Amino acid sequence: MQQLTCTGSGAIRWLDVPDPELSGPTDALVRPVAVARCELDPLLVAVGPGTAPFALGHEAVAEVVAVGDEVDLAPGDLVLPSFQLCCGRCTTCRRGFTGCCEQYQVLSDYGMQPLSGIEHGGMLSDLVLVPHAPSMLTPLPAGLDPVAVASVPDNVADGYRSVAPHLEAHAGADVLVVSHGLPAIASYAAQSALALGAGSVTEASPDEEVLALAELIGAEPLRTDLTDRPGRWPIVVDAGTRVEGLQWAIRATAPEGVLHSVSYYAEEPTVPMPLGRLYTLGITFRTGRAHSAALLPEVSGLVAAGRLDPSLVTTTVVDWDDAADRYLEPAIKLIVTRPTTQETSP
Ligand SMILES: [Zn+2]
Ligand SMILES: [Zn+2]
Repeated sequence: MQQLTCTGSGAIRWLDVPDPELSGPTDALVRPVAVARCELDPLLVAVGPGTAPFALGHEAVAEVVAVGDEVDLAPGDLVLPSFQLCCGRCTTCRRGFTGCCEQYQVLSDYGMQPLSGIEHGGMLSDLVLVPHAPSMLTPLPAGLDPVAVASVPDNVADGYRSVAPHLEAHAGADVLVVSHGLPAIASYAAQSALALGAGSVTEASPDEEVLALAELIGAEPLRTDLTDRPGRWPIVVDAGTRVEGLQWAIRATAPEGVLHSVSYYAEEPTVPMPLGRLYTLGITFRTGRAHSAALLPEVSGLVAAGRLDPSLVTTTVVDWDDAADRYLEPAIKLIVTRPTTQETSP
């Protein structure tokens, strides 16, 4: 089968690799039909492979091709695969922390071999093996367009979980999203806050394209150079790559407020934190990864109910055959797509 593969720093191409095969009763084989580029992907490709080339892609809608005996899905069914491998049965999975499954090495994800050191395949492939299909696959709600929701398994879920628990604890609170390098996740966070009844949703950024998108999705755009003096919000989301963005987000968090960071400061392993300020003002700082399998049913349900439309954030749609040439081009959210088997058969 063909697999879009990172073969060197900044280099991607289709490679012919062996088909994965079913080997257990909870396995499924799926064929991705829409794959969204995660904000992490260009960074992974820029760094390039460590010891071996790696498969790309981890946000997708796929069609089921074959299943083991214990999987209650049929060929042709459309599904949202968790991007993190998880058993669904260990204590950690059952607590909802499916991104930290006890059966897998930390960071065992599709399309991220450099992070875990283990190749699990990638969604930009003709076939992908899903080893715990009952917990890793969420059926796509009827009527949803695969291209519109391809980013739900990671970036949309990531934005959602950065506001959902805080708005549940503090209904109707005002939300600020600080966007400084992860524009799609920031936009999905703002959309989620709007969908979940925030009193107001402001998206702050130094980036004009992000501010225009904020307005399009219904948030209040706030231009900042990340050095000016911010107002104060009870719920703040930090989404970006710049340490000064995090520091600005901290200054924008109200006393006894919550600052939720979806950022990973890869180039700054020891980011300074003003613990004195957090202590004095009683600010809760939350970080960590989204738990894809656990979040997929509620996030896809919100989209199916018409309360959150991720397609508004999509800026580029690319044909499957053009993915090697176009996967790295500038775009807030790029989605690769091909017809389903049903659409191509007479
Ligand atoms: Zn991702
Ligand atoms: Zn588990």
